[in-house]
Amino acid sequence: MGERSWPSGSNEGWSGSGRAPLLVSACLLGVTCNHKGQANTSEAVVALGRDRRLIPVCPESAGGLPTPRPAAEVQPTGQVRTRSGDDVTEAYRRGAAQAVRLAVAAGVAGAVLKSRSPSCGCHEVYDGSFTRTRVTGEGVTARAVREAGVPVWSEEDVADRAIDLRDAGGER
Ligand code: SF4
Repeated sequence: MGERSWPSGSNEGWSGSGRAPLLVSACLLGVTCNHKGQANTSEAVVALGRDRRLIPVCPESAGGLPTPRPAAEVQPTGQVRTRSGDDVTEAYRRGAAQAVRLAVAAGVAGAVLKSRSPSCGCHEVYDGSFTRTRVTGEGVTARAVREAGVPVWSEEDVADRAIDLRDAGGER
């Protein structure tokens, strides 16, 4: 699958099964919105769109950050900072709030979010030292969406078949 421009492309081939939609990190669907201006396309996640509506969101874009943008990591304090030390926590929080509003308004059955992102990571993140050191934890949006009562998975969970989304949300 080639890269796609924002915001198209999430529902190609959707058959309208009536299942509740899923919130999905836009970069997993081919949108070139990551901090390098590239996509992180996951064919396993794209394939979920065959039988349910996928709602793309890029919290960092929604929070007002440009693309491309400096890499940032969640610090042990919970703040989000770039390598040069700029505090971008507020933009990350704005994006998280937007994602929660979207998830609630759409009545999603769950969210599939990009692994290890300081926004979207749902199992682990980098430790804030910019040394690619992973620690157990969540990105700002993954936490906010989970705390809003929405189940959250990563694209790796989907690809590894660690979860079965077929019945998530049932019919609408
Ligand atoms: Fe992808 Fe989330 Fe990062 Fe946006 S904020 S580029 S959706 S991982």
